[in-house]
Amino acid sequence: MDNTPKSSASPLETVNAEIAKTARIARRDTDDITLIAVSKTQGPDKISPLLAEGHRVFGENRVQEAQEKWPALKQDYPDAQLHLIGQLQSNKAEDAVELFDCIHSLDRPSLLKALAKAMDKTGKRVPCFIQVNIGDEDQKGGCPIGELPAFIEQARSAGVPVAGLMCIPPAGIEPAPFFAFLAKLAEDNGLEGLSMGMSSDYPVAIMLGATHIRVGTALFGERG
Ligand SMILES: *Cc1c(COP(=O)(O)O)cnc(C)c1O
Repeated sequence: MDNTPKSSASPLETVNAEIAKTARIARRDTDDITLIAVSKTQGPDKISPLLAEGHRVFGENRVQEAQEKWPALKQDYPDAQLHLIGQLQSNKAEDAVELFDCIHSLDRPSLLKALAKAMDKTGKRVPCFIQVNIGDEDQKGGCPIGELPAFIEQARSAGVPVAGLMCIPPAGIEPAPFFAFLAKLAEDNGLEGLSMGMSSDYPVAIMLGATHIRVGTALFGERG
């Protein structure tokens, strides 16, 4: 006799159910919320099951790692979409434009220049989120809040499509005020996209308007 429990929910099903539940409470359409499965450090053996379950949007934080992993995975799943969520060096801008469908870490004029040049050269316009240093932290990347309007303008005139704003709130304190502040900055600047929320706080990010949540641990377990 088979006493194993009936198939329990997969991590992907659990996260998607949480997204649906939160969207219902917030009176939002789940189609307006993109789950980016953050597969950094995970090998193809961990990524393939998610692809097989039907998930198609993934996030990586290093260009070289993505170049090593994804061409093979994309052979089987050509409609997989890749988002770059980590810091980008200007000398990797062209590689990033070629491989990624969206970039979440546009944070400084020198990188903007390199991305604009790469997009002109390849003819591929990759939507970019401007990463904002939302907690005004010295050690953290991101555009300073005071420079944001000018930087958005600069990106637009360079022909780089601005999808919205992205943030990583300061560690160890309640993230909600920072998510709310990012949403206000986006609204003030006429931007729709909000890339915010990770495994520990994506429901609150959805309540506060996130359009793109970046979830790793809740889908893949702890990174090794
Ligand atoms: C790693 C990473 C995530 C995912 O974090 P989890 O806590 O594993 O969900 C999200 N955003 C960025 C920028 C990351 O580097």
